[in-house]
Amino acid sequence: MVCFTQDTSIPEHEQWVITCFMVGDPGRQRSIPPEAQRGEAVVTHIKKACHEIGVEMPEPIATHEFEWAEHDTFLGAPSPVMGVDVLSTDAGKSLREPFRNIVFFSGTETALESEGFMDGALRAWSRSATEVIAYLKALHSILE
Ligand SMILES: Cc1cc2nc3c(=O)[nH]c(=O)nc-3n(C[C@H](O)[C@H](O)[C@H](O)COP(=O)(O)OP(=O)(O)OC[C@H]3O[C@@H](n4cnc5c(N)ncnc54)[C@H](O)[C@@H]3O)c2cc1C
Repeated sequence: MVCFTQDTSIPEHEQWVITCFMVGDPGRQRSIPPEAQRGEAVVTHIKKACHEIGVEMPEPIATHEFEWAEHDTFLGAPSPVMGVDVLSTDAGKSLREPFRNIVFFSGTETALESEGFMDGALRAWSRSATEVIAYLKALHSILE
C-alpha cells in the first residue's frame, strides 16, 4: 500500500513524523475506502514493516492525509515517473523545446536530473531562464 516513506520529523520541535506516499495503482486503490479506514490501513502497514525489521512502532498521536490527485494544479503524485530513456531521447527533448520562441517550458518534469524534486525544478528553471535570456538577446540584436 505505502510505496515509499520519508522521515519528516522536526527534532527541535520534538515532532516525529513519517510521511507516507501512496502512488500509482496502490494509491488509486487506497482512495476507495472511507477516510477513517484509510489512515488505519496505512498505520497497520507501517507497523508491520517496522516489525519486520525488529522495530515496534508506537501508536501515532495523529494521522493526517492529503489527496494530491484532487488538488487543482497537481492532479497526481509528488513525482513524475517516466520510463527508461524517455527524458533523454526525442520524446524528452519535446518536453523542453520552446514553442516558436513564444512559450518556454520549465518545471521539474523537464529536468534531466532530479526530475520530480526541488533540485530538478531549480535545474529546469535555470535552463529555461538561459533560453529566454538568449532569445531576448538575439531579438535585441536584430532590433538594434
Ligand atoms: C506531497 C509532496 C511532497 C514532496 N516532497 C518533496 C521533497 O521532500 N523533496 C523534494 O525535492 N521535492 C518534493 N516534492 C516535489 C516538489 O515539490 C516539486 O518537484 C517542485 O515543487 C516542482 O516545482 P515546479 O516549479 O516544477 O512546479 P510547481 O511547484 O508545481 O509549480 C507550478 C506552479 O504553476 C502553477 N500552475 C499550474 N497550472 C497553471 C496554469 N494553468 N496557470 C497558472 N499557473 C499554473 C501552480 O499553481 C504552481 O504554483 C514533493 C511534492 C509533493 C506534492
